[in-house]
Amino acid sequence: MSGVVVIGAGQAGASLVAKLRSEGYEGPITLIGEEPVPPYQRPPLSKKYLLGEMALERLYLRPESYYAETGIDLRLGLRVTGIDRAAREVVMGEARLSYEHLVLTTGSRPRHLPAAIGGDLGGVHVVRTLADVDAMAPGFRPGARVLIVGGGYIGLEAAAVAASRGMQVVLVEMAPRILQRVAAKETSDYFRALHGRHGVDIREGVGLERLLGDDQVSGARLSDGTELAVDMVIVGVGIVPDTALAEAAGLAIDNGIAVDAQGRTSDPAIWAAGDCASFPHGEGRLRLESVPNAIDMADCVAGNILGRGVDYVPKPWFWSDQYDVKLQITGLSTGYDRIVTRDGGAAVSFWYYRGDQLLAVDAMNDPRAYMVGKRLIDAGKSADPAVVADAGADLKVLLG
Ligand SMILES: Cc1cc2nc3c(=O)[nH]c(=O)nc-3n(C[C@H](O)[C@H](O)[C@H](O)COP(=O)(O)OP(=O)(O)OC[C@H]3O[C@@H](n4cnc5c(N)ncnc54)[C@H](O)[C@@H]3O)c2cc1C
Repeated sequence: MSGVVVIGAGQAGASLVAKLRSEGYEGPITLIGEEPVPPYQRPPLSKKYLLGEMALERLYLRPESYYAETGIDLRLGLRVTGIDRAAREVVMGEARLSYEHLVLTTGSRPRHLPAAIGGDLGGVHVVRTLADVDAMAPGFRPGARVLIVGGGYIGLEAAAVAASRGMQVVLVEMAPRILQRVAAKETSDYFRALHGRHGVDIREGVGLERLLGDDQVSGARLSDGTELAVDMVIVGVGIVPDTALAEAAGLAIDNGIAVDAQGRTSDPAIWAAGDCASFPHGEGRLRLESVPNAIDMADCVAGNILGRGVDYVPKPWFWSDQYDVKLQITGLSTGYDRIVTRDGGAAVSFWYYRGDQLLAVDAMNDPRAYMVGKRLIDAGKSADPAVVADAGADLKVLLG
């Protein structure tokens, strides 16, 4: 067996193999995934699926039959343990499989709390896989007390689901404000107020000192000395790119598996895409943790395996659903120096600028602001702040 072997049957891996086939690649394709289920979408795990409003089958990116029908050898529940670059083979315990092109789409892994502070107690959960969410779902009972550690999007989405299910929710964020790493103060303020209206007790500038309990978590001591009684804990303290195989194989690593502009690693027969990969961007490198990046980068790498020679140009966007608010984000806000607010009552958006240049938009229940902002940012154009700030003005004039 040779052809293309893809390690990691998540969003990027599944997109890549489908693209290869739809673009006419006729050689053997093998997609290997450690999880026992066909490739699925993760975003609903902390949204509709956790709420119990989405069936399992709807998570699947494609019907399971698709892979056999298109001649893709999907091997599930199988962990690749090594890469023999000299022999061009992947190693799975005793078994080996040769490749002409190898693609690493190994994604990322959630950070866990150390066992020394109770991170290994029963009732302590992370939110990455279907198995993680299925394990925590029975604890989502009205009246149950949940502590959420971390005020990023995953923690806030879990808090929204828990509050919607009638649970008592405390969320602690060690930084001075929720979403500090990814958003402006205005966006943090918006979501703090939203959660406050739903009864979530958000404590900022407060860390977790340790979890309490014998086998099962029963309490938590916070850095301000407070002790809480809890029934379950959800940990949303970030993810790390899964570079283990690449590192062991001696590939270059730099905030993820380092690839060139076309998605090739430091070994030209090995490519990488999605959460695990960092690519050249401006003066440095960029690694994105989002579905659109996983899909677009996988598509680009598939084209380059077919010899297209195209550079990956990210068009970053992201979304988050909390209660009845849909947040849509376009662009990268890094380096902004001011925010322009467009407040249309139910529809609110925050526009990030550096000097006169529009960098990013956070739009809350405002699909038009998102759409206009995205078109401008993708085209490298800016937006007149006076028009943006005037909620009565039609944003479409900005598109010229
Ligand atoms: C709860 C949750 C909510 C999210 N919400 C959003 C959202 O609203 N919007 C958005 O844009 N993004 C969201 N994301 C992020 C998005 O899901 C990821 O960016 C995306 O899944 C990345 O795709 P990937 O293919 O790179 O990695 P993954 O989807 O993580 O897939 C990697 C796969 O590789 C497998 N693997 C790793 N090592 C091996 C090995 N050695 N052998 C075999 N298999 C291996 C893993 O088991 C995994 O299944 C969310 C993520 C989570 C967890």
